[in-house]
Amino acid sequence: MSLLAAETDKRDLRRGACPALSAPMQTGDGLLARISFAEPIRPAQLWTICRLSKTHGNGVINISARGNLQVRGLTAETAGKFEGDIRSLNLPLREGLAVEVPPLAGLDPAEIADPRPLADAIRAGARGLEGLAPKTTVVVDGSGRMRLSKLLADIRLVAARLDDKVGWQILLGDTQAGSRVHGTFPAQQAVDEVLSLLQRLTSLGPTSRGRDLVTDAMPPCAMMEDGPSSLGLTLLEGDEAAVGIGLPFGQTTAMQLAPLCTEAETQHIRAVRPAFGHALILFGDRSACETILVFAGRSGFITESTDPRGMIAACPGSPSCASAAIDTHGLAHLALEHLEDLLDGSFNLHVTGCAKGCAHPQATSLALCGGGSDISFIVGKASDPSFASIPAAESANALRSIAALVRKERLKDETSAACIARLGREQLALSLTSGRT
Ligand code: SF4
Repeated sequence: MSLLAAETDKRDLRRGACPALSAPMQTGDGLLARISFAEPIRPAQLWTICRLSKTHGNGVINISARGNLQVRGLTAETAGKFEGDIRSLNLPLREGLAVEVPPLAGLDPAEIADPRPLADAIRAGARGLEGLAPKTTVVVDGSGRMRLSKLLADIRLVAARLDDKVGWQILLGDTQAGSRVHGTFPAQQAVDEVLSLLQRLTSLGPTSRGRDLVTDAMPPCAMMEDGPSSLGLTLLEGDEAAVGIGLPFGQTTAMQLAPLCTEAETQHIRAVRPAFGHALILFGDRSACETILVFAGRSGFITESTDPRGMIAACPGSPSCASAAIDTHGLAHLALEHLEDLLDGSFNLHVTGCAKGCAHPQATSLALCGGGSDISFIVGKASDPSFASIPAAESANALRSIAALVRKERLKDETSAACIARLGREQLALSLTSGRT
């Protein structure tokens, strides 16, 4: 084993470790490098990344739930060259603490405040801070149309209107819905407060997360969540627009993505950025965005929020990931076949190769998790206890049984998520037992 691979293995034994560009992670199909951008890049630069992913890796590219680009199939010999070639492109690479802003930050007329100056100040203030957990994340959300409410964050700032002033509510731990309110502050004080919370996290030790700062006295967050889906066309100021396209099951290939980049250049699309929810957001004038949206749809990308493929979060699974017990994409296709009418947008079906749950860290109405030769059926997070476990060979029958139960029991105007919650784990488990052949 090379020194690089040995070092990488050692680092990756840390639970929750992130596969950064300079510390790629060993997976089932080789090393995986993560590229995070602080700013959008040009379509031609993304085309070059596609080319490098084929030259140095296996050409498979993921966009993670958090919106990071992941290049797969690198080797101990090529990972260093890949890093060198990427760095030579002078891309706006994000290093250090993950401070996330929504993809339309600063461009969205609906935004209460531009979150980027606060994010920059937090990044600068946190530079050199040692001892934070590897996945520590700060979200700064200007409360525009594309919100980061469902992204897990240790510390979250959300812009709020207070009479005629703007305040920043600081929330701790979890998604926005599950977080607790630390307080509401003017901009500069909010930055200082976040830096002091990060300092407290370092003093609590390297596994400490935002939830460890929560006290019983902190009320739950009562702020409204979620704007519309990031998919499709969003009109900005003047003739400017943004177009969101989704990667089915969070994955594409250089072969599929490179032609989209070429067409985007031809249409004078100005910029592109990977975004949360396994999406790509492209920026340009309205007619360019409309044209690229049609091209993306014809090329197999998800372009509408009603596309059921966009309602399934599946991790790379076997054979791409060494930890995977199942072929997640195969199971996701089976779920599409049998559960399609349940996928009404009220929940994301989570298909995961193991309990780590990379593709959907949050709880959901239904998760299918591989383990040994079985599939566990879960309501909640991938690591939560299952309500039933069935042999993988019986997956199709089990999916049919769940679909039949929800179809039969769903009340008029009830969403699938509400129906599943009302039925509860016991009834769901019963349908699987009685459905087995
Ligand atoms: S969730 Fe999927 S991608 Fe993540 S470690 Fe498990 S099998 Fe691998």
